Amino acid sequence: MAQARDVPLDAHLHTELSPDSAVPLELYCAQAAERGVGEIAITDHLDFTPGAPAYGYVEYERREREVRAAAERWAGRVTVRFGVELTYESRHEDAIREHLRTHSYDYSIGSVHAMSDGPYAHGRLAGFVAGKSLAEVVAPYFAEVRLAIRSGLFDTMGHLDMCKRWLVAWFSAADFAAVPELYEPLLHALVESGTALEVNSSGLRHKTGETYPGPWVVARFRELGGQRVTVGSDSHLPHTFAFGIEEACEIVAAAGFDRVTVERALDRGDLVLPERFRR
Ligand SMILES: [Zn+2]
Ligand SMILES: [Zn+2]
Repeated sequence: MAQARDVPLDAHLHTELSPDSAVPLELYCAQAAERGVGEIAITDHLDFTPGAPAYGYVEYERREREVRAAAERWAGRVTVRFGVELTYESRHEDAIREHLRTHSYDYSIGSVHAMSDGPYAHGRLAGFVAGKSLAEVVAPYFAEVRLAIRSGLFDTMGHLDMCKRWLVAWFSAADFAAVPELYEPLLHALVESGTALEVNSSGLRHKTGETYPGPWVVARFRELGGQRVTVGSDSHLPHTFAFGIEEACEIVAAAGFDRVTVERALDRGDLVLPERFRR
């Protein structure tokens, strides 16, 4: 596994405009040009809980100015999208809706993260998991993911089952694959709302050992009538740009998709998967 070359898209990237990354935006653009990644989406974090790391970390105007300036500099070589990864919490849904109504992005990812006052927080996790089944343990995460999708606010649902990462000491990817019924409501909600499914390759460099979500989930999404998928490395470091995107594209192709997309429109020929992925 490695950083990909000649893939159409890496739609999930964090820069120094996120609290947990120090990568200059320019470095991703240069790597994209050098590696033949035609389009990238800069998706820095935005949190809505006061005190959370990305709550008011960098104001919208600066993020927009810097990413749009890069888009102009790299025009003709790399398409740079001004995106955002919004931490979804149902208790903040009104604030998230208002933010998206009053601010303009090319692309929005909604993601559920481990909140410091939630069950998956570091100090709390072992106690929460003790004595519970996998279904019980993932219930709070999946419930929030379902609400995020049903809100219809986001272009894409980010890392659908990121909780695999936190639970890896107790439950493997195979354990998750043994309870496909837990994913069904999420996949139905994606199809009904027209929200894209992200194949997030960061799991390939975590102990999890597979994408978020795994290949079988992407295939099931397609079976249910899913139309739109994206691929993203969720990179926070220079050397993880496009990391695992080759594998993510293979998963997308194996599921029966011939393209990735960051837009509702499906007719953009430049995001069709290269010939080597086609079945
Ligand atoms: Zn995330
Ligand atoms: Zn992210």
